[in-house]
Amino acid sequence: MEMNIAELKKGGFLKQLQKDYFAVRLRVAGGNLTLEQVETIHQVAKKYGKGYIHLTTRQGMEIPFIHFEHIDAVREELRAGGVELGVCGGTVRGVMACQGSYMCPHGHVDAKALSRQIDEQFFAAPVPGKFKISVAGCNRSCAKPQENDLGFGGVLRPALREKDCISCGLCADLCPVAAITMQDGYPLLSREKCIACGECVTACPSGAWREGEAGVRVWAGGRIGRDPKLGEVAISFMPITKIPAAIEASLAFFREHGRSKERFGKVIERIGWEKYREAMERATKKDA
Ligand code: SF4
Ligand code: SF4
Ligand code: SF4
Repeated sequence: MEMNIAELKKGGFLKQLQKDYFAVRLRVAGGNLTLEQVETIHQVAKKYGKGYIHLTTRQGMEIPFIHFEHIDAVREELRAGGVELGVCGGTVRGVMACQGSYMCPHGHVDAKALSRQIDEQFFAAPVPGKFKISVAGCNRSCAKPQENDLGFGGVLRPALREKDCISCGLCADLCPVAAITMQDGYPLLSREKCIACGECVTACPSGAWREGEAGVRVWAGGRIGRDPKLGEVAISFMPITKIPAAIEASLAFFREHGRSKERFGKVIERIGWEKYREAMERATKKDA
């Protein structure tokens, strides 16, 4: 069998230090695998690997110590058991997600469902460099959207039904940015200060603070690597229906301006945040 290391890497087989051995990277969306997939991975790792699997820092999974002679068999047996291979190089990588509103009491958006949709639409799309996406259900940021090339975090604009307020003052006490002050026994909200974290809605004992509008905040340009940097806010509030358009616009910007192997954040810094934000605004405006 002839080995093309670059092609194998692109297709999810990463060369190890140990001669002739590869770690096979698996496709995982939002950190979830079905029990059937886990069983398949178990069987393949037992048959061809070294008795263990490796969990990556981005909710991915790898089976180490696959001998190059078994690469085709491993690929086929994984696929037959419903497990797809991961990708490397200049592509959209596996999408990360926290539990989101499906399970977590703090969640404002269903991060798992969104990550699956993003994965279906954009996984392995070619770009000049690696492109990582993460979705968090709220701005507690458990899925670390700020460390990714593009990150989404659920946000919630609160709405007040004053007649239900019992004037306890809890919302004013716990608002992390002091956007609420008590005036004549009732909360007064500064929309300018509010970061749409939704904490007042979760905590209000009488239900006076209710869900206004849910959406996502968008961060771009985050990376770890050799020159780590947290992403910056590209859009502070966006409807979740605009997520595909925001990703399309970012990938188009990357393809138009990026150099080979350059990180997305570096591209934005070189071309200018203003230009990138303009492109995002155009792509995600209400009637776009
Ligand atoms: S980011 Fe928010 S929704 Fe997601 S797990 Fe953390 S607290 Fe829950
Ligand atoms: S937490 Fe709810 S009940 Fe208490 S002051 Fe705020 S709005 Fe009113
Ligand atoms: S949503 Fe968050 S930032 Fe806005 S008023 Fe409520 S607690 Fe404060």
